[in-house]
Amino acid sequence: MTTALLPNFFAGRWQTGTGEGTPMFDPVLGTELARVSSAGIDLAEGFAFAREQGGAALRALSYGQRAALLSQITEVLQANRDAYYEIATANSGTVAKDSGVDIDGAVFTLGYYAKQGHALGDAKLLLDGQRIRMAKDPAFQTQHIQVPTQGVALFINAFNFPSWGLWEKAAPALLSGVPVIIKPATATAWLTQRMVKDVVDAGVLPVGALSVICGSSAGLMDQLQAFDVVSFTGSAETGQIIRSHRAVTELSVRCNIEADSLNSALLSPAATADSEAFKLLVAEVAREMTVKSGQKCTAIRRIFVPRALYKAAAEAIGARLAKTTVGNPRNETVRMGALVSQEQKASVLAGLAQLKTEATVLFDGSAAGWVDADASSACVAPVLLGTESPMSAKVLHAVEVFGPVSTLMPYDSIEEAYAMIRRGEGSLVCSVYSEDHLFTAQASVELASSHGRVHAISPDVAALHSGHGNVMPMSLHGGPGRAGGGEELGGLRALNFYHRRSAVQGSSLALDVLAAQGSQLAL
Ligand code: NAP
Repeated sequence: MTTALLPNFFAGRWQTGTGEGTPMFDPVLGTELARVSSAGIDLAEGFAFAREQGGAALRALSYGQRAALLSQITEVLQANRDAYYEIATANSGTVAKDSGVDIDGAVFTLGYYAKQGHALGDAKLLLDGQRIRMAKDPAFQTQHIQVPTQGVALFINAFNFPSWGLWEKAAPALLSGVPVIIKPATATAWLTQRMVKDVVDAGVLPVGALSVICGSSAGLMDQLQAFDVVSFTGSAETGQIIRSHRAVTELSVRCNIEADSLNSALLSPAATADSEAFKLLVAEVAREMTVKSGQKCTAIRRIFVPRALYKAAAEAIGARLAKTTVGNPRNETVRMGALVSQEQKASVLAGLAQLKTEATVLFDGSAAGWVDADASSACVAPVLLGTESPMSAKVLHAVEVFGPVSTLMPYDSIEEAYAMIRRGEGSLVCSVYSEDHLFTAQASVELASSHGRVHAISPDVAALHSGHGNVMPMSLHGGPGRAGGGEELGGLRALNFYHRRSAVQGSSLALDVLAAQGSQLAL
């Protein structure tokens, strides 16, 4: 059955694209859910409307006023939470807990930025650092300021976080005073579209501050102008297309890329099979492999343990994974749902076959079968791979399989472990499990240059830590090299991307006036 097209909110009004559109499916049942299309939409009109109407209205407000809008958005989202969970079950195939990572994670992030923004009060600009004398006479000084860029923020997002992926970017953008145009990934666009619809219908934001366009991305990048910004999350291949677009290379449109990543978990060389550090690593690896069926850019893909613990780690992780029932997320006994689409299933199975050319299977959950789902669904069971000669492996350090798949690798010296971790060529996160704080500190310094985040876990924080793969708004998200070279979140650091820094050189008296209008940017 052909379903209806979801309308786009663009140029301040609801507009339905032309043509048949692209269908979205339930990855477990295979039923068609709705369609999206951006065909026939006047892109130039929508970008100009957001830039001019939305931007001007947002910039007329103070940080504190915009923070209050973020609080109102969280209220709207909370009021419609049940509907979002239903959409996530149907369109992403996730169990309730995994839908929560996306939906409640978004609400938490919005709430965090609402609080941070409230503290900036009625300021309309940010003071960046202190005043610096430019002459012997203190009458002439320089003050760096940050002001919102007078353009739009275009977000091109990945399929795995239709909710959090929108709001973790929109919260700092809107707080900064920059209007947002969101283009969600087609496979799971429904939840993004519905959330924008609820916020628009509630009349929270000035018209033009938030637009959504679902369907093809064709022509979006062509609309960007010098003061716009683009933030992309997705595959390295598409990231390359974005980065090499004329808007970025010729107009210097600011561009943030969050791409794929071969994240690692590292067990301390001093660990034993009955140590707390070992148990913490095992629990976190099993959790990371199965949350959202491993469809997290931050998930642990490579596990490094001292060689003496290779077999014990394989057994312990396998025993945990064996408890993961896979199938229809509507069945309460199911712990892990499906991948988001048949395309992703095909991609994960192809990636797994590639990894198997250099690794053996240590655990494969598919023998247990699926609960309330059949072989034609997009369900894939967790698979733990392993190799005893990881130093000579190539594919294992290069191919990201975006599913419940991870590879165990032994190391003979800590230097060898660091060298292998770096072969990921820049990752989002590495977690370290140790009872020795000296080792943890040394490892953190060693790993920091190739990772946006080091998640350093010891028994004293076992019950407190936020999880290897959970992206928290107060910590940086992004990674160098292959991970895209981007930076998001990190508290108020996120505002940098949406502001322009300028050095004002002038009379101390003029700088006094400026200071009275600004709020000190305290990171
Ligand atoms: P993708 O195929 O690259 O798609 C990402 C987005 O780009 C989608 O909205 C897609 O639209 C759009 N797109 C495709 N071709 C485009 C083009 N030529 N110009 C402009 N936009 C274009 O990636 P994906 O498969 O959705 O996401 C999976 C990947 O994302 C994984 O590798 C994962 O590691 C990465 N990821 C990274 C992070 C992070 O924060 N670092 C977070 C989540 C995911 P359509 O859907 O309409 O094709």
